[in-house]
Amino acid sequence: MTFYQPVGNEIELFQAAADNGLPVLIKGPTGCGKTRFVRYMAEKLNRPVYTVACHDDLTAADLVGRHLIGPDGTYWQDGPLTRAVREGGICYLDEVVEARKDTTVVLHPLADDRRELPIERTGELLTAAPGFMLVVSYNPGYQSLLKGMKPSTRQRFVSLRFDYPSELQEQVIVAEEAGCDRDLAVQLVNLASALRNLKDHDLEEAASTRLLIHTAMMIKAGLPSLDAVRAGMIEPLSDDEATVAALMEVVYAVF
Ligand code: ADP
Repeated sequence: MTFYQPVGNEIELFQAAADNGLPVLIKGPTGCGKTRFVRYMAEKLNRPVYTVACHDDLTAADLVGRHLIGPDGTYWQDGPLTRAVREGGICYLDEVVEARKDTTVVLHPLADDRRELPIERTGELLTAAPGFMLVVSYNPGYQSLLKGMKPSTRQRFVSLRFDYPSELQEQVIVAEEAGCDRDLAVQLVNLASALRNLKDHDLEEAASTRLLIHTAMMIKAGLPSLDAVRAGMIEPLSDDEATVAALMEVVYAVF
């Protein structure tokens, strides 16, 4: 079973949404466990999960499916959303606000009590199998005015807000995921807390749990700690040399 450290009541909330066929929206910064959580819940509910990393070229057809040309002529191929609808699985759309606006046309009827997917190109109207669940996530930090989610979409979802775990929880996650000892996990989490508390650097995003895990893995692999922290945690935060130098000062205080 996939390891997942609960950080609040998210398991109970997701379970209740799943039991009632309600769609779920997860908002939170990058690397705070959203994807891991969905994978864990899919295993717990024993449902297949289809994950789609959304990007600005992603269209409704990418989700629903399209006609392809094969040796025997054209044939229809279901997209990930259609597969989840037919099989009663979970369709997880990561960074959903990135996707083209035409995707809302297919998502809306699936995200309310109709639970229907009209497939325009084949003329089919699918009713979602009982286990079907639509889960979407996005990072409110990245949002531009243009890309915000419309209230008519947002209000269809049960919404969970994710954030970085508490220090104790994060120590457990880092030790488990990187397979490192607790002392190193504690040290890295302390460093992350110090970095997250810095207010005066305009970083796009703070250090995520993912970065701590990468750094712990590299230290475990035998790299000098400072090199591993720089490459695993600090350089990924900023391209600006002065900012990196200032963040390294915080590192020297902890390591
Ligand atoms: P997101 O989807 O929010 O960007 P991920 O779910 O990919 O982030 O999390 C990044 C990594 O951090 C995961 O691969 C996992 O190793 C770890 N992680 C973060 N939060 C947790 C958690 N609560 N339990 C277990 N692992 C976690």
